[in-house]
Amino acid sequence: MLGKTDKEKGMVENMSRETVIVIDFGGQYNQLVARRVRECNVYCEIYSYKTDLEKIREMNPKGIILTGGPNSCYEPGAATCSPELFEMGVPVLGLCYGAQLMMQVLGGKVEKAPVREYGKIEVMVDNHSALFQNVSPKTVCWMSHNDYIAQIAPGFGICAHTADCPVAAAENPDRKLYAIQFHPEVLHTVEGMKMLSNFVYQVCGCAGDWKVDSFVKQSIETIRNKVGDGRVLCALSGGVDSSVAAVLLSKAIGSQLTCVFVDHGLLRKNEGDEVEAVFGPEGNYDLHFIRVNAQERFYEKLAGVEEPEQKRKIIGEEFIRVFEEEAKKIGTVDFLVQGTIYPDVVESGLGGESAVIKSHHNVGGLPDYVDFKEIIEPLRDLFKDEVRKVGLELGIPEYLVNRQPFPGPGLGVRIVGEVTDEKVRIVQDADAIYREEVDRAAVSYVKEQGTAAPWKPDQYFAALTNMRSVGVMGDERTYDYAVALRAVKTIDFMTAESAEIPWAVLQGVMNRIINEVKGINRVMYDLTSKPPGTIELE
Ligand code: GLN
Repeated sequence: MLGKTDKEKGMVENMSRETVIVIDFGGQYNQLVARRVRECNVYCEIYSYKTDLEKIREMNPKGIILTGGPNSCYEPGAATCSPELFEMGVPVLGLCYGAQLMMQVLGGKVEKAPVREYGKIEVMVDNHSALFQNVSPKTVCWMSHNDYIAQIAPGFGICAHTADCPVAAAENPDRKLYAIQFHPEVLHTVEGMKMLSNFVYQVCGCAGDWKVDSFVKQSIETIRNKVGDGRVLCALSGGVDSSVAAVLLSKAIGSQLTCVFVDHGLLRKNEGDEVEAVFGPEGNYDLHFIRVNAQERFYEKLAGVEEPEQKRKIIGEEFIRVFEEEAKKIGTVDFLVQGTIYPDVVESGLGGESAVIKSHHNVGGLPDYVDFKEIIEPLRDLFKDEVRKVGLELGIPEYLVNRQPFPGPGLGVRIVGEVTDEKVRIVQDADAIYREEVDRAAVSYVKEQGTAAPWKPDQYFAALTNMRSVGVMGDERTYDYAVALRAVKTIDFMTAESAEIPWAVLQGVMNRIINEVKGINRVMYDLTSKPPGTIELE
């Protein structure tokens, strides 16, 4: 396959796999659409609306879904698609902008709506055809639109409406074309999964062959074929992605794999030892494990540096340098493993449309600091929740697989201002106490109530503010740091609300931190949502 880009290679590899294609018009939820389809056990990829129709055809999709988008399709320059897209004989489902566009391209009319709809809206289903099979006659759906379908395209019939929107859904079952004004991919659409599942199974006739166990089996085979008796190097961070990638590789090629774990001294409490316990010589896997204790080097480089971006850069660069030195000791390797996952691909603009916004460290720029022939990205097709499922399937301990997200620069960005070994110790201890208490409270809630605690945060950690204040302890004046407790509820980490951890739990955390962590005399709770805040402090 000489000369083909990675994306094209991906396309060829996937041709044999039953695939639904999501065409991205820049909507907020495009990744969510693909995830939901995969939750139906159907493989799904996202491509920009600018992708050549010929390429789409070559991929031989079982179905196509057009996403929402910010444009108004009747405005000049708006994102569009060719009418031929609807003539390939492939079922198409348009969502919101995608629905409007389908109607307009096929001869209907889209206009500014007299009443815009936003939020949960009751939708009346008029015709329980394939798409709405087993869906209630009145069903709550998530709407977010200013425009509306004023007139459906010839050959279509209306199959759902709302109080303000005459066309909430339209269909041409003979041509297998479906348009819905709301967002079935958003969980607020109560029966959205049923509709998407109806589309992929009833309309597209998918078999549902996208399963974790077959992914694992297939990947192991692909890796073996690709690597042969070559040598493979992997940078292990202890995070979910690199851990799962490493185990997958080790299952496939055993001791041909060397993992280098750089302990930059900015990990959570005991994390370095935990990683070593799992992957090191005492652990469960057949691989070469090298731990580099580079703490001092990192602290030295970070001394006196306060600016967050500069800290990030220093940590990133030093990481590469350490890794490079280790790699040199190993000599030439044939393959380098990267823990790239599908959102990285999409967000780097290689897949979808909304993407071009941010470049990602995992994708594109191949590191030139290590002597290797080729890169292996075994998780490149997977969403995060799928990576976790693969991890469990591979038998990786649950506490590792379900680890909270942790930034690459680690505690370096959870210590506001200058990083010192003393501050690292303080934040590690406070964070460990906080996580322990929240976990304990969540577990006892389940025991007592029989359900998960509604306040259980999706991410929670302690960060060290750079503020010192006066306190009194044991009748003596103190002048110590304030720690900030962060806890958020989020579905996708794009937006987040602060979690309502019970007061008593927070007070318990506060007491323990003040009593047990030297250097802290004040504990604060961060209430900020995202936006305007970010989840991390720096
Ligand atoms: N921009 C279009 C509208 O306002 C579509 C919105 C969407 O796709 N969510 O109606």
